[in-house]
Amino acid sequence: MKRITISKGDGIGPEIMDATLEILKAAGAQLEYDEIEVGEKVYLSGNTSGIASESWEKIRNNKIFLKAPITTPSGGGYKSLNVSTRKTLGLYANVRPCMSLHPFVKTKHPVMDIVIIRENEEDLYAGIEHQQTDEVVQCLKLISRPGCEKIIRYAFEYAKNYGRKKVTCFSKDNIMKQTDGLFHEVFNEIAAEYPEIENDHWIVDIGAAKVADTPEDFDVIVMQNLYGDIISDIAAQITGSVGLAGSCNIGEEHAMFEAIHGSAPTIAGQNIANPSALIQGAILMLSHIGQNEVADKIQNAWLKTIEDGVHTVDIYDENVSTQKVGTKEFGQAVIERLGQLPNKMPVRKSPTNINLNLPKYNRKPRLNKELKGVDLFVHWDGFDPNDIGGQLRNIEIGDIKLDMITNRGIKVFPDGFKETFCTDHWRCRFKNVNGTNITKEDIIQLLNNAEAKGIDVIKTENLYHFDGKRSFSLGQGQ
Ligand code: NAD
Repeated sequence: MKRITISKGDGIGPEIMDATLEILKAAGAQLEYDEIEVGEKVYLSGNTSGIASESWEKIRNNKIFLKAPITTPSGGGYKSLNVSTRKTLGLYANVRPCMSLHPFVKTKHPVMDIVIIRENEEDLYAGIEHQQTDEVVQCLKLISRPGCEKIIRYAFEYAKNYGRKKVTCFSKDNIMKQTDGLFHEVFNEIAAEYPEIENDHWIVDIGAAKVADTPEDFDVIVMQNLYGDIISDIAAQITGSVGLAGSCNIGEEHAMFEAIHGSAPTIAGQNIANPSALIQGAILMLSHIGQNEVADKIQNAWLKTIEDGVHTVDIYDENVSTQKVGTKEFGQAVIERLGQLPNKMPVRKSPTNINLNLPKYNRKPRLNKELKGVDLFVHWDGFDPNDIGGQLRNIEIGDIKLDMITNRGIKVFPDGFKETFCTDHWRCRFKNVNGTNITKEDIIQLLNNAEAKGIDVIKTENLYHFDGKRSFSLGQGQ
């Protein structure tokens, strides 16, 4: 028996959870439950995190959490429980299988069976945002080597264990050479350890277009948080319906399983929601805790139900469906078919010895770090870069001189184009003209000089070479 935590959530959550639990019981899943309340009621009781501390205890004790969708009330102040659960419990990998069920569920892509593995903890989702000037706000994109290594190794281990042939990496390293560049570099390093698995890389924009057009060309795809958020929804949708896909969030100790859709409040309480996505979440959970036989039994019965044309309203199509059923009746139809196999769609047979080899991250010895310069970010209302450039010449210290100024990344000084629009946020780079290192004292002196001249420095960013390699971007056009 495995004790897990469940929550029935909001909207259609209770209906689809009840249908799922009945199937788990009938299939003989060896599970015991601790039920907790999360979501709308908890938020509206004044708890802005949407979860009580006793509930955290249960989640942390049981380590496995099956969660129905919740409603995040609109209006400020409420924190997304999904994001905080993923981050608090270190659920770094979001795994989302997207498979079409042709010809039983209408799709433009009859041959589609991909798994999207999305990094879940970092990227722009760190939520580190600041307004810096009247006109400019920023969101920091943080990508770490451990974050990349963990998710990319997970993708290759997943492929190896589940008989997948290829792992594809999506990134935008042609533009973001440091952040996406690191992701791609780590992908290449880890791919080399798995010669038996094919690998390739696509720039994310054309990669996403190809997923939408020829998903049959892909197998496992690994990507950063934001790209994964968007593309996994596209992938689920083009299989036929987001109402069919489950997902899991996996960490070193904990795991959370869910449907990918939300709480669908407009159809709540009517017994019309499709419980399939949460059933898929539960199947992923059973595999994760080693109850593969039950997982296969439920998946095969579910496929047979879909093949038999027993469909909820969201996928009902009079040309292929035979019966339009409600949430509860769909669950019963799956239960009636436990032990049966699909006739046309591939029968599911889980690999017997799944063993993901995911070593703990080992911090490597520090690299040699040299301070080569500094970017001072300046809030200035003028429009002519030569004007601010002239003012900044007055704060130089000996050979540490103004090297260039960019505005929203594009070089505008020296020798900018008058056509370039400038906002009130200027990145002003100072370096030693001889190429030698500078010191932190030099930076403090530059800041003191700027302050004395009335220049409004809003932040600084140190420019480093790590092991002799330039580790900051040049100005665009530089
Ligand atoms: P949604 O996924 O709830 O609904 C989108 C559309 O899909 C609606 O038309 C809905 O009726 C339909 N739909 C969704 N699930 C269905 C199912 N199982 N069967 C049949 N039709 C289904 O997205 P939304 O409307 O943007 O969000 C509603 C609420 O859900 C919001 O409060 C949002 O914050 C929350 N949400 C929660 C989660 C989660 O808990 N994991 C995820 C996304 C959204």
